[in-house]
Amino acid sequence: MSPEPYEIVELIRLKRDGGTFERDQIDWLIDAYTREVVAEEQMSALAMAVFFRGLTREELSRWTHAMIASGERLNCSHLSRPTVDKHSTGGVGDKITLPLTPLVAACGAAVPQLAGRGLGHTGGTLDKLESIPGWQPFLNQAQMTRQLEDVGAVICAAGLGLAPADRRLYALRDVTGTVESIPLIASSIMSKKIAEGTGALVLDVKVGSGAFMKDPQPAAELAQALVQLGVDAGVHTVALLTDMSTPLGLTVGNALEVRESVEVLAGGGPPDVVELTLALAREMLAAAGVDDHDPADVLASGRAMDVWRDMIRAQGGDPDAPLPSARETEVISAEADGVLTSLDARAVGEAAWRLGAGRAQKHHEVQAGAGVELHAKLGDVVRIGQPIMTLHTDTPERFPRVRDALARGYEIAHQIAERPPLILDRVG
Ligand code: URA
Repeated sequence: MSPEPYEIVELIRLKRDGGTFERDQIDWLIDAYTREVVAEEQMSALAMAVFFRGLTREELSRWTHAMIASGERLNCSHLSRPTVDKHSTGGVGDKITLPLTPLVAACGAAVPQLAGRGLGHTGGTLDKLESIPGWQPFLNQAQMTRQLEDVGAVICAAGLGLAPADRRLYALRDVTGTVESIPLIASSIMSKKIAEGTGALVLDVKVGSGAFMKDPQPAAELAQALVQLGVDAGVHTVALLTDMSTPLGLTVGNALEVRESVEVLAGGGPPDVVELTLALAREMLAAAGVDDHDPADVLASGRAMDVWRDMIRAQGGDPDAPLPSARETEVISAEADGVLTSLDARAVGEAAWRLGAGRAQKHHEVQAGAGVELHAKLGDVVRIGQPIMTLHTDTPERFPRVRDALARGYEIAHQIAERPPLILDRVG
């Protein structure tokens, strides 16, 4: 066995003292961590050093490259249509992938969407789709390619072979207080997206209480870092910064969000969900170089709904089956006349999570029907006694705690309130 070319403790000291890694050092570090030559406690110390010292643009690009090289890379270049994907940094009620993927496919691009599950207060796309009877998330590459050719749209689970270094490092960051580092977040997201083989990528970087990034400045820095990594890897990448201070749409929870997505595909749905779906669709089509259709016309024509139904059926799901609903509901009503002047994304997300829509630990099961249904949005006039939310769960013993926590998540007052613009900025 040949000796290792570097000493991990030296690399930890180098970054701790503000130094810059060479490319070979980064390649070795990520590879040695994947081979379990670098121990978890050593990688924890190194992640903390990166947290405080950051990575230069060159280091970040190489770090991402090394994470991609730790596993397989899918190849979508032989498909007959250009490929484009979207990634959201995660928000409350963010079901946009569900209507967006079939819509963009109906406009002529192919969308290879490798999605994840929810952890904490933001939901996961796979959990949402699994509430559709029969739908299954696991496809091998041949099945994925066939579905991309036949239907144009795939939403499936990322295989274990994709950026395995990130899987280990992300789990480690989660328990070592090193998640909130812009270079570590950017390399984590982009290693998976570049490895998935998409030709173009649109990022939805969420800003606000319900998002990873609460403030616009770090969110803009993250967006810049993500776009640069995409460009460095030859993937046409743009980012939108979008508001996540209040929930998106009127539903938070798995089956509830599928229902709302189908409403959008049927030509209805809440205006903010429709607005963001169309804005992201336009960006994706422009990035893919497919501009012969206006997504609003395609949505109105019903063609996106046809692709949705084909996409669900291709993965064993029944698009006509009734969606599961929770066993118990409880209504929260306005306790005064006035205007809903605050409706906090984080509070609503946590409420849905506590009701059973999300998981506290990876191995937990989610309840398909659980969540929060909103009857009023930020800025709406409400009357005393009027329902403003319905809570849904199979475990009604959770109602009192959720009610208490939600009481601090909204406010009714005698003043005008407006939602901030949904699309805050664009990078790329
Ligand atoms: N999502 C990821 O995939 N990685 C991060 O580090 C943060 C969000």
